[in-house]
Amino acid sequence: MAVYNEERSKWDSGSIKTTTLFSFVVFALFLLTVIWGLANFFMDTYYERARSQEVIRTANVLATQFRQNRQDFPTYAVQTAGANGIYIRMDTPSESLVYDGTSTVIDSGQFTEDVQHISNMLAESHTGSVSDTILGQSQGGSRLLYATGIMTSGEENTLYIIAPLHPDPATIRILRDMLLYISSIVLVASFVLAYMLSRRITLPIENLTRSATELSQGNYNVKFDGSAFTETRELARALNKASYEMEKTDFYQREILANVSHDLKTPLTMIRSYAEKIMDISGDNPERRSADLGVIINETERLNKLVGDIMSVSNLQSNNIELHKETFDIVEAARDVYESYNVLSSSQGFEIHFHPCKSCYVVGDRTRLMQVMNNFVDNAVKYAGDGKYIDIKLTRNGKNVRFRCIDHGIGIPSDEIAHVWDKYYRTSANHERAIEGTGLGLAIVKGILTLHNAKYGVDSKEGKGSDFWFELETVRKPNKKTMSTMELDRREIEEKRKEEAANGQES
Ligand code: ADP
Repeated sequence: MAVYNEERSKWDSGSIKTTTLFSFVVFALFLLTVIWGLANFFMDTYYERARSQEVIRTANVLATQFRQNRQDFPTYAVQTAGANGIYIRMDTPSESLVYDGTSTVIDSGQFTEDVQHISNMLAESHTGSVSDTILGQSQGGSRLLYATGIMTSGEENTLYIIAPLHPDPATIRILRDMLLYISSIVLVASFVLAYMLSRRITLPIENLTRSATELSQGNYNVKFDGSAFTETRELARALNKASYEMEKTDFYQREILANVSHDLKTPLTMIRSYAEKIMDISGDNPERRSADLGVIINETERLNKLVGDIMSVSNLQSNNIELHKETFDIVEAARDVYESYNVLSSSQGFEIHFHPCKSCYVVGDRTRLMQVMNNFVDNAVKYAGDGKYIDIKLTRNGKNVRFRCIDHGIGIPSDEIAHVWDKYYRTSANHERAIEGTGLGLAIVKGILTLHNAKYGVDSKEGKGSDFWFELETVRKPNKKTMSTMELDRREIEEKRKEEAANGQES
């Protein structure tokens, strides 16, 4: 028996809680690794590309300014150098000026080497502007060099820009700190979120497990509650239904056990007493002996039927029944059933009427379908009460044919009608009257009709009588040749069944 273990379910590595928590934390760590990786390994490349695009843009604006408004150019260049943290130098034929962000100065020689280097590149190039990256620790670390030629009224001028390629260490520190805060917040948030989510998911499951444990201990009153989620609500509904069915089956099984043991006990007691009677009293008197033996044979028959019904139900339940389908005239089969009952029942004061329709053919297991009809008529006789008047009808209903067995007996209370097809079910009125039966007949009927995909049902009114029916699709009448082969097949099937029954009895 599975025992719910709260402690274990909390720390179980296979539990939903642990898995959710683990998944969230792994995801958060992955996210942080990506962010930190990007920040550390790709920051420089990204910064360099963004910086060079910016430098080119700035150079274009400066060139335009130089061409169009030379007077204001120094002010503009000083502002641009200050705002962007770059070194700007303009070489005209007459002078060489450096704009460092605070003033315009004459070249101090600070970046002479760099200027020389990029100036050589510009001289060799035919594009009008060149750029290059210098990697190194000296003179402020890696930097981007840019040079472009500007022609104004026949004079050749050159604009140089030198931009450091490393972000300001203070900015980097602030960024790193911010990233650290964000990382911690993401981690803590993912922990809290995972915990809350896993609790929300597992709570209904834990409730369902607790209820299932109670059910397994035989408490059928337990109610399953799936609360929060559609899936768990559906599971709870299915479990409630299963628990109701279990309770019902349990109840019927207890009941049948009482009934079956009673039904078995009566014929066994009879057999034993009549056997003793034959031994002690009637053994020497052939007439009385054969009368007593007759009782013994009848009781054995009852036992045989009971055991047969139990076997049929268990076979139907385990899908262990093979149908021998054939095309046959259902009207003819119903007539056979009617005739067998008519002889038997007229002696007991029953009036059975047969109302056939025109002969029609169906595909199915003739013997099993006759078993169904027999069962309906058998019940009609059993539950006829004082209305000993029974109608067996066959009616056409479109493409279908309907077999009906109508009695005018005790009927079935409306709230019990749905249950008569359940195995071991016997109506309440039945208990009072103590009519002999097992409650298995209609369960067998249901099984057989379901295997035939037949529609079936009962219309009944308490005290007025019942109309048990089933419906099958009709087919065209087979031709004569196939009919005779079918007849042969049927004989063969019946022989086989008899053989099986005999073997069953032997074992
Ligand atoms: P049983 O062996 O008890 O007759 P069935 O499965 O054939 O078992 O029938 C189940 C129950 O349905 C019966 O016990 C009876 O209460 C009710 N029932 C069946 N047929 C009729 C009928 N024709 N009239 C009234 N009640 C019926």
